[in-house]
Amino acid sequence: MAAMKRGAVFLDRDGIINWRIAGGYVRTPAEFHLLPDIVPFLSGVHQLGLLTIVVTNQQGVAKGLMGLEALEAIHKHMQQEFLRLLGFGVDDIFVCIDPAETNSWRRKPQPGMLIEALHKWHLTPEACWMVGDTAADVLAGHRAGIRTILVGAESVPEADFHVRTLDDALAIIVTHQNASLPPPTPPTIPPS
Ligand SMILES: [Mg+2]
Repeated sequence: MAAMKRGAVFLDRDGIINWRIAGGYVRTPAEFHLLPDIVPFLSGVHQLGLLTIVVTNQQGVAKGLMGLEALEAIHKHMQQEFLRLLGFGVDDIFVCIDPAETNSWRRKPQPGMLIEALHKWHLTPEACWMVGDTAADVLAGHRAGIRTILVGAESVPEADFHVRTLDDALAIIVTHQNASLPPPTPPTIPPS
C-alpha cells in the first residue's frame, strides 16, 4: 500500500490573513482585521483536504513592542473569527519572535518553521504550498522544498507562481492538486 500523502498550505499572516500595518505591528486583537479573501480561500483549501498552517515572523515581541501574551491573544481572536465564519480554524500556528539581526534559522526567509511543521504533521513536501506576500515567504518555502505562491505586488524570481489575489492562489492549488491525482478511468464506450 502506498503511503498516504499528507499536504498543507502554509500561510503567512500579515498581508495574507489580516491587513498589515505599514511600518508597524499588529499589537492587539482590536488591531487585527481579517482580509475578506481569506475566508473563501480557507474554505476551498479545507475542501481539498489540505491542512492550514500559519507561519509568521513577529519580531515585535523581541523588540519589546508587545508581549507574548498579546500575540497569543491575537491568535486566539483569529481562531475565534475563523470558527465563527467557517466553522473551523487553522490547524496550527508557528511563530518566530527572533529579531531580524539574529539571522535565526526559524525566521523567514529561513525555512526553520516550515521544516518543523513538515516533521510535526508528517507532511509530504510535494503536497504542500507556501502562500505569502513577500520575498521572505517565497524564499522560506523554496528552501523548505515546497511550492510557492506569491500574492500581490512584489516581484520575487524564486516564486513558482505569482498572482494578484487569494482567489487566484486557490485556483492554482485546485488545479495542481487535481493534477497530482491518478488520472480518472476512461469511460467505457458501450457497443453500438
Ligand atoms: Mg506578509
